[in-house]
Amino acid sequence: SGARVRRACNTKLPQYLERGIDVKFSDVAGLGKIREELEEIVKFFTHGEMYRRRGVKIPGGILLCGPPGVGKTLLAKAVAGEAGVNFFSISASQFVEIYVGVGASRVRALYQEARENAPSVVFIDELDAVGRERGLIKGSGGQERDATLNQLLVCLDGFEGKGEVITIASTNRPDILDPALVRPGRFDRKIYIPKPGLIGRIEILKVHARKKPMAPDVDYMAVASMTDGMVGAELANIVEVAAINMMRDARTEITTDDLIQAAQIEERGMLDRKERSPEMWKQVAINEAAMAVVAVNFPDLRNIEFLTIAPRAGRDLGYVRMKMDHVKFKEGIRQSLLDHITVQIAPRAADELWYGEHQFSTIWAETADNARSAARTFVLGGLSDKHYGLSDFWVADRINDIDSEALRILHMCYDRAKEILHRNRNLMDAVVDILVEKKSLTKEGFFKLVELHGSLQPMPPSV
Ligand code: ADP
Repeated sequence: SGARVRRACNTKLPQYLERGIDVKFSDVAGLGKIREELEEIVKFFTHGEMYRRRGVKIPGGILLCGPPGVGKTLLAKAVAGEAGVNFFSISASQFVEIYVGVGASRVRALYQEARENAPSVVFIDELDAVGRERGLIKGSGGQERDATLNQLLVCLDGFEGKGEVITIASTNRPDILDPALVRPGRFDRKIYIPKPGLIGRIEILKVHARKKPMAPDVDYMAVASMTDGMVGAELANIVEVAAINMMRDARTEITTDDLIQAAQIEERGMLDRKERSPEMWKQVAINEAAMAVVAVNFPDLRNIEFLTIAPRAGRDLGYVRMKMDHVKFKEGIRQSLLDHITVQIAPRAADELWYGEHQFSTIWAETADNARSAARTFVLGGLSDKHYGLSDFWVADRINDIDSEALRILHMCYDRAKEILHRNRNLMDAVVDILVEKKSLTKEGFFKLVELHGSLQPMPPSV
């Protein structure tokens, strides 16, 4: 009966298998040189025997690093598609469970399926959700995550050198991964996928236009020029929205104008495709409002053009569009950088003011990271009272001093953000209310509220 049970288990449908993956490298545009590296990975599958015979070690895991929406998932699928192997995928955020042991058992099941259906690609999205350096998260959630991470390490080691199962993981934060993950034999290959440049954007638009009835004279350059900073996911979406535009007008060809209009919609983040709870909308609104309300207090940052909390294709939470002069090398830079840090840490301060000190939300994680690195830049740039410079960075015992000085700056900016938010509580409430209701706020709308409710005082420099 034991054998029967085992067979019954084996015939269970694999949960993590994605069927019918039909992605090829030609579906992924704007890769340039990265493509060669990926072709080599395909060869590990198609010419595995040759590599093994020559004693070339096949990597256990490949890390695709880059911001959301640049095509990391698409690339992992293309590797499986080109090699003609099975594709198993899971998002690491699914590993991170409240119940102890669930994450680890999912990892085991995932790899068991992949092995039984080898050759295969295992794709782990958002590896940093589970792969953050151990001990950084306190409490029972941290323990559970450690158990999951340990299980993942065991699974990665189990396949070392075999070349039958290759793991591809994506992350936007390779720098915070647990060192154990990136040891040889594990994720020992990193491939960086940047946001596409102008030419890359043209190519991506064209890939997505391939299956659409485009007008023969479409000006891709014009669309690519106005989408600076956008990633593949957003560009793909622009083509889709342009097609809808065409359909609505009962036309038969997509024109440059359709694309431009769609790009503007994308830019403004008007697409609420995701479901959010009312609490979540409010939290995101507080996050974005905090940045705008603090920024409007600062001369270099007060040029706020647009606020939105609508989720966008690039999975942003929302954004505040500020027009600013980025580089100010003159006297202004010191205060300007402090102001910038204060704006970036404002969402964290708002979280404390609105939800209490022990409320844990992660909405502000990204901007808090910006603040942290800007504080370091501040210290290393020799701008703090203690005159550290870039050369101190290489002296091991100085690094702690630099970090604690950066932390001091960060705390000061944090207090300053809190003070501004506290003083502008009415303005915050008004901005949050409108954002929750309308999802966005124009420049004129925002400044009207500032006029009505704001309490902007010229403030003395804080440090
Ligand atoms: P990531 O995994 O980096 O967050 P995805 O692979 O999920 O990004 O990208 C989402 C979608 O965006 C893809 O399915 C594809 O339609 C489009 N896309 C992203 N990057 C590219 C690219 N380089 N070429 C073509 N399409 C792309």
